[in-house]
Amino acid sequence: MDNIDLLIKELGAHRVKYNEPLEYYLFRKDKIVAQFFYIATNRRELEKILELCSKLKIAFLVFGNGTKIIFDKEKIRKLVIRNRAAGLRIVGIKGKIDKGNLPVGKQVVGVDEAKVEIDSGVSVSILNEYLNKQGLAVPVWQSSLNGTIGGSLLVDPRMLEKCEKIKIWDKGHQEISPAELRNKHIVLSVVMNFKSAV
Ligand SMILES: Cc1cc2nc3c(=O)[nH]c(=O)nc-3n(C[C@H](O)[C@H](O)[C@H](O)COP(=O)(O)OP(=O)(O)OC[C@H]3O[C@@H](n4cnc5c(N)ncnc54)[C@H](O)[C@@H]3O)c2cc1C
Repeated sequence: MDNIDLLIKELGAHRVKYNEPLEYYLFRKDKIVAQFFYIATNRRELEKILELCSKLKIAFLVFGNGTKIIFDKEKIRKLVIRNRAAGLRIVGIKGKIDKGNLPVGKQVVGVDEAKVEIDSGVSVSILNEYLNKQGLAVPVWQSSLNGTIGGSLLVDPRMLEKCEKIKIWDKGHQEISPAELRNKHIVLSVVMNFKSAV
């Protein structure tokens, strides 16, 4: 049995597409075909597919929103993985809780700073919307609003600066510092610090 058949057996035939035109997923609508194509809809699926590729020795390529990626061939003979892992969660806050005389549930929570864990498939515009809703200051990013965090980190020094830690895949899960990030790493998620907007 071919290794790609083993992958399909594990994930289900409906999840791995053959000869998929990538123009639907690429910002520039290039006429490129992926021999095998998979969409990771969350971080668990992204980690699982990377683990399977590693175990089954299947060559793969990950992309996000396809605003920047350029393919050197019209047919990609690898498993092309579209990353749509788009979770966002607050994992820590620094600040004060001012209870005042307000009833329970209406107490004022003042946050000076928050740590946000962001999946690599979150687009810059969705991150900005989230920060606005949480009352956190939106930084001036250098990369496009359409790109994902995973596709932007290495080209946007301001974004890298904001990171406290980065979860990557490099033949296994690892947590690294921003200074350790390299081209070969697949970014799974990042933790960034944001100040309050006020
Ligand atoms: C209109 C426009 C304006 C732009 N302006 C700027 C700009 O001012 N400055 C700038 O720097 N860039 C700019 N870009 C480039 C681009 O927006 C960014 O690099 C972008 O953030 C890439 O994100 P993406 O999800 O589209 O990446 P993709 O195009 O999907 O991928 C780009 C590269 O990143 C890799 N990649 C994707 N996801 C991951 C991941 N999770 N882990 C590891 N590698 C990954 C891919 O394999 C590929 O090599 C612009 C693009 C457009 C269309």
